[in-house]
Amino acid sequence: PVRVRYCPSPTGSPHVGLARTALFNWAFARHHGGTIVFRMEDTDKARSTEESYAGILDLFTWLGLDWDEGVEVGGPHAPYRQSERTDIYVDALAQLKASSYTYDCYCTNDEVEARRKESGSKVIGYDGFCRELSEAQVAAFTAEGRQPVVRFRMPEGSITWNDLVRGEVTFETRFVPDYALARANGDPLYTLVNPVDDALMEITHVLRGEDLLSSTPRQIALYEALKELGIAKQTPEFGHLPYVMGEGNKKLSKRDPEAHALAYRDQGFIPEGLLNYLALLGWSIAADRDVFTMEEMVAAFDIADVNANPAKFDIKKCDAINTEHMKLLSEDDCKQRILPFLQREGIVGETLTAHESVLLDQLMPLVAPRLRKLAEAPGLVKSFFVAEEDFRIDEAAKAKVLNEAGLEVVKAAYDALRGLDEWTTVTIEEALTQRLVEKMELKPRVAFGPVRVATSGAQISPPLFESLDLLGREKTLGRLQAALG
Ligand code: GLU
Repeated sequence: PVRVRYCPSPTGSPHVGLARTALFNWAFARHHGGTIVFRMEDTDKARSTEESYAGILDLFTWLGLDWDEGVEVGGPHAPYRQSERTDIYVDALAQLKASSYTYDCYCTNDEVEARRKESGSKVIGYDGFCRELSEAQVAAFTAEGRQPVVRFRMPEGSITWNDLVRGEVTFETRFVPDYALARANGDPLYTLVNPVDDALMEITHVLRGEDLLSSTPRQIALYEALKELGIAKQTPEFGHLPYVMGEGNKKLSKRDPEAHALAYRDQGFIPEGLLNYLALLGWSIAADRDVFTMEEMVAAFDIADVNANPAKFDIKKCDAINTEHMKLLSEDDCKQRILPFLQREGIVGETLTAHESVLLDQLMPLVAPRLRKLAEAPGLVKSFFVAEEDFRIDEAAKAKVLNEAGLEVVKAAYDALRGLDEWTTVTIEEALTQRLVEKMELKPRVAFGPVRVATSGAQISPPLFESLDLLGREKTLGRLQAALG
């Protein structure tokens, strides 16, 4: 059975790369009817925060990337926070130390670097100096008060694995230095705790970013030791997902504003849209198709189809994909989703009044088809909810559209609408078209722009005639008159 993991480190605000990695694990597991384990890699006490942990939970919950075992839900391998698993690592480290797989290393970084410079070696990292220390040397270092780190002894030769994304990958181990499993103070490091947990949690497939490619030969070597010690049953299969590149073809970094995954929620992206876009960062459902649902992704997902080449993060494309998914929402679904945005801006209250609810229902057919993101909704509906004494025209729109000629149009519109017997979308359209387009010989854009600004307060609004119909005679005439000053 397939078992995969999400195992983020809770440092900083969650990155889109993390969401992409989680999505590919999710799709892979769901495609194979497997199990997703959610483990929190919070052993780095200095950098891990509860705030970041909460942000990651928020993100996965919002996106609907669910999990079967792990933090918050529990499971047979609990606890799932590494900070609560110290005993397990201390024990695994003791077993490794008791074997010949590790050795104590007393060197400082400066000493290692000085030796590297002297020898002219190109290999960055540890040179194996402490591999075969005599008892006398150990005694001398100890007498100096040095505390050793525990290093894993890399085997001779080469390490090859069949990467699920990249095919066969081989590292010569002379370029993979012996590495530390625990700090001198005994704190276990990622290099130890991640494979130990993957082993104990019986993870079968590790899908993760390409930035971790160079740690894979180390981990494969460590698995051999863990299997020998009876800690691991098997070595998982590995698949390294391509880098995500940002502006200027540099790796998308935390500094790039588009890297912050939760910002998409706040800007009104919907999970369907963002997930679809993230899926395209390394995968596609078909050569001629960009838009798909997660159900379709799960059905079609094959890790072998993931492209090993770097993927470019294109925010315009992300917007466009989101827009396509917005169009697929039913009016009622869309209404439910824009509510928090309207509440956030105080346009409606925490619980809708009967009037607000009816008005929103009437607005949905006008608004829903025009939204590219949920956060555009407040701007489109605000003028229908505002009390007349609080109605304001956007200053920039006023300056641009309600100039002398614009006000002349507003005056004519006022006169045309004032006398209407019946107030309907059809009669409003007829009256304004006759008076402004036919009689004044104005182009529709020139004719209706000033009316739109005067009655909605903005240059972008739902369709004009329907909007005036909904707004009602009294408010429409009142706003036109107010614009005339
Ligand atoms: N906690 C590690 C990270 O966030 C996990 C790496 C892995 O998937 O092995 O980078």
